[in-house]
Amino acid sequence: MARYIGPVCRLCRREGLKMFLKGERCYTDKCAVDRRHYIPGQHGQARPGKVSEFGRQLREKQKVKRMYGVLEKQFRGYYEMAARKEGVTGDNLLSFLERRLDNVVFRLGFASSRSEARLMVRHGHVLHNDKPVDIPSLLVKAGDEIKVIDSSKANVRIVESLESVERRGVPAWLMLDKKALAGKVATLPVRADVTMPIEERLIIELFSK
Ligand code: SF4
Repeated sequence: MARYIGPVCRLCRREGLKMFLKGERCYTDKCAVDRRHYIPGQHGQARPGKVSEFGRQLREKQKVKRMYGVLEKQFRGYYEMAARKEGVTGDNLLSFLERRLDNVVFRLGFASSRSEARLMVRHGHVLHNDKPVDIPSLLVKAGDEIKVIDSSKANVRIVESLESVERRGVPAWLMLDKKALAGKVATLPVRADVTMPIEERLIIELFSK
């Protein structure tokens, strides 16, 4: 599956929001959003023009795709699954994104960003229900267990990331056993578990045109 490999701080600056795409650096005064709070590019510091409703919808979609590291086609797939499922489509969409295995590995604190979590999964550092897995987009279910494999438990990146997990906080729908480097999905995530500022209504309006 393709992924974005360009400069990520630029993405945060474009959205005018800290999206925590770069791990530890995001919590330091080196964060590009804090240092240059204007959109990137030649006209980035010009007075912003009026944004249409369609423009706002597009930006919101881009923002959420970038936060979760998902490209257009796959994102559209999540929307279609969310629309088919019972309940509020926007809530379903965010729930699907949160349930991605790379997001769960990040939320549990085993990786300092979703892209690092994605690599961890790809490179086989994670077990899903005691079985090896290398699919970052796998959707976890309630009761699933996620563990770091024994041979990676001393990995410096993982240990450092776990040390700072308190600062980020583990969401209520996940249970972390920090000592065992293991986690469990207590319940499926609901809208209230997504604390980033997202107006999913705009995305739904865009896709349902
Ligand atoms: Fe975004 Fe982190 Fe870069 Fe700041 S340091 S701009 S939060 S990716």
